[in-house]
Amino acid sequence: MSLPSPATFGFRGFNSWRPGQNEAVERVLRSEKRVNVECLPTGSGKTLVGAFAGRMTGRTLYLTRRRGLQTQIQNDFGTDEDREMNGANAAFNVWGQAGYSCRLSQEDASFSPVTVDEAPCQAGYQCVYKHGGCEYYDALSYVITPTPKLVVTNYTWWFHHLRTKVGQKIEPFDMIIVDEAHGLLDELSKFLTVTLRARDFNDIGVRWPSQNGADIEMWKEWVRETGGPAVRKIVGELERQVDGQVPTGATAKAVARRLRKYERILDRLRNMLTLRGRGCVS
Ligand code: SF4
Repeated sequence: MSLPSPATFGFRGFNSWRPGQNEAVERVLRSEKRVNVECLPTGSGKTLVGAFAGRMTGRTLYLTRRRGLQTQIQNDFGTDEDREMNGANAAFNVWGQAGYSCRLSQEDASFSPVTVDEAPCQAGYQCVYKHGGCEYYDALSYVITPTPKLVVTNYTWWFHHLRTKVGQKIEPFDMIIVDEAHGLLDELSKFLTVTLRARDFNDIGVRWPSQNGADIEMWKEWVRETGGPAVRKIVGELERQVDGQVPTGATAKAVARRLRKYERILDRLRNMLTLRGRGCVS
């Protein structure tokens, strides 16, 4: 199979194939296997191979390990010009919350600008932009639809959202490109690691288990019986204090920060309860 240049298919700026790219695309497209591994040297243009094979196959998810590569894919295939020319076929990048600015905090002079992970809506504020107008939530609403054909994100985002409502609603992909696949186990291991600090529990009057370092089942029981109910209680109390208001003064901001912190701890506890099999506690 001799493929016309990538530019013919709308890959702007890629007027010819580098040595080996065409063949790699061909191997992937001809293969009937569920999983294909392409081992290509640095500088051979793996990203184009993946993006191209994906586009020829259907809706594609491109997973990267590094923010730098995500940015590069955005620059190569997801610019405004790409969108104009290729519409939904242009790469659509979705980042974690820290990658987006909170619009409300930029518009309201009583705030210092923050990113979405620190935004008032993370502490219970019912922001009107959440249903349209907030770049982050708009991106989530768009990415779950079948419209974007090449979605680019990082492992952390993808693993996290597999457990959320976004993951449950997301339109399936026809191909998943796992970039730097040698790092997949590390990424999975990072994702499955639950870190808890005794200090966060002591601060709310909860006794840390005396058998520190025991097996995972003991920890799960502690989460169910002690840690979980205590953190849920403190989250409820803090939510009542915030009462859906925008935290403006120093005290209100401190309460909102505390609420975000314990909500994250609650998430970790929930994740711990989903762990199956043998865990390793250190
Ligand atoms: S929904 Fe509103 S408060 Fe939340 S990040 Fe978006 S703009 Fe900020």
